[in-house]
Amino acid sequence: MVSQKTALVLGAGVSGLAVSIRLAARGFSVKVFESNDFPGGKLSEIQLGNYRFDAGPSLFTMPHLVEELFWLSGKKASGFPFRKLDEVCRYFFPDGLRFNASADREELIRTLSATLGENAETLRTYLERGQWKYETIGKIFLEKCLRQPGAFLNKRALRAYAGLYKLGLLQSLNGYHARLFSNPKTIQLFNRYATYNGSDPYQTPAVMSMIPHLEFGIGAFFPKNGMYQIADSLYRLAAETGVEFHFSSPVEKLEMQDGKIRGLFSRGQFHAGDVVVSAIDVSQTYSKLLGMNQTGNRYLKLPKSTSAIIWYWGIRRKTSLTGLHNIFFSSDYEAEFEALFGKKEMPEDPTIYLNISSKERPEDAPPYGENWFVMVNAPANEGQDWDLLIKNTRTKVLERLSRELGFRAESEIEEETLLDPRGLEARTGAIGGALYGSNSNDRFAAFLRHANFSRQVPNLFFCGGTVHPGGGIPLALQSAAIASEYVSKM
Ligand SMILES: Cc1cc2nc3c(=O)[nH]c(=O)nc-3n(C[C@H](O)[C@H](O)[C@H](O)COP(=O)(O)OP(=O)(O)OC[C@H]3O[C@@H](n4cnc5c(N)ncnc54)[C@H](O)[C@@H]3O)c2cc1C
Repeated sequence: MVSQKTALVLGAGVSGLAVSIRLAARGFSVKVFESNDFPGGKLSEIQLGNYRFDAGPSLFTMPHLVEELFWLSGKKASGFPFRKLDEVCRYFFPDGLRFNASADREELIRTLSATLGENAETLRTYLERGQWKYETIGKIFLEKCLRQPGAFLNKRALRAYAGLYKLGLLQSLNGYHARLFSNPKTIQLFNRYATYNGSDPYQTPAVMSMIPHLEFGIGAFFPKNGMYQIADSLYRLAAETGVEFHFSSPVEKLEMQDGKIRGLFSRGQFHAGDVVVSAIDVSQTYSKLLGMNQTGNRYLKLPKSTSAIIWYWGIRRKTSLTGLHNIFFSSDYEAEFEALFGKKEMPEDPTIYLNISSKERPEDAPPYGENWFVMVNAPANEGQDWDLLIKNTRTKVLERLSRELGFRAESEIEEETLLDPRGLEARTGAIGGALYGSNSNDRFAAFLRHANFSRQVPNLFFCGGTVHPGGGIPLALQSAAIASEYVSKM
């Protein structure tokens, strides 16, 4: 049914773009207000000389959630070309052990059995169980709002309850892995998946063992023009379908009348609307824009996910040992997470993630070089002495990469810039620079996140990394789908 209502969307990150496309497809007149002068939020890009970098996300999973937006708008999804990766990641351990993780489940099992001595059947059962968790409980959590009546009363939910003991809600991810696997390196490898939503494997529940299924079951992908293509093509799609964008237009206030929002103020100007979808931080929406500090503070206090320090280095040489995604593991993973979540400081020996998009897209670097996106996990910003921490960590990162790759990395840096938790906060409005909103360390974390609608303001809805179902591109896209369902029922 065609609606003539006006929807005001706050924020043009991936969730704001997705919800605007969905609402335009349902006949809403949609206006998006964005602080930055570009779309994408965390999903942005940086150009340094002849090097292009994806500034934020580098791993793309569940591409059908992007394709769906093209289909909904009556366009061909072929306007968004991407390809499935054969190799998911290259792993480097401090003792010199290295291997490449294939996207093919059986190939991965063969590699882990051969290099780490793991039992092939244990690995197969582990990955199959992860798939089962994703297909039962994962889908309940991702596709519905948990506050929605009936979310837990359907066939899929009943199947999950029947196997509740297998879900692993009562033990930690690390505890689960430690019981299954014999080699500490296998445990470290699968523990890393907790970081996909910025959580701590020593606290987050074992149900998170469904995450590897996203890579080894569904697959890891690369958009033909790099990660920023996701934001760019969704922005173009939204504009083509009539969405009106206001860039460099921070929303300053939401104006209430008779218990409902009647519009917003941006750059001192009033814009009227029938519904508002906030795709920015939920606590800020309540506190800063509505003056509802009590509700805002409740969400502000939720423990945050990890942030990051990212160096963008234009490197004037090619490397053969590296692939698109590379992990250089630390020697003591537990100490690393104790530093991040317990002490809230930088780890002594950080695990390093190196992403080189020019491996897949040569135009991202000059012919003689590579664009290195070098990221280490960091605690969310609470006023730490970042300048000192960055200086110390940079030295350690360069030493480790130089040792592993066999040349002095620092002398090959042609271009350089960095983002740290403070910069991420300033650039995207993420509290503390948290990459994924609140963390999932608590087994009830999913129930503590804000719903996709407001109980206090009837025409206010939410999507994005700080609300249900959580952070990461796929979940942010799911949140837009859930929010738009609610909006259209108004
Ligand atoms: C370094 C990094 C690496 C990551 N790696 C991955 C990865 O590999 N894979 C993955 O899936 N995810 C990854 N993520 C997480 C992912 O980027 C986010 O979960 C997702 O992009 C969040 O989208 P969003 O729409 O919720 O919010 P954002 O992208 O944060 O967008 C919010 C937007 O709202 C705007 N805004 C804020 N306040 C206002 C206001 N008052 N008025 C108007 N506009 C406002 C901001 O400027 C911003 O553009 C990573 C994130 C970072 C930073």
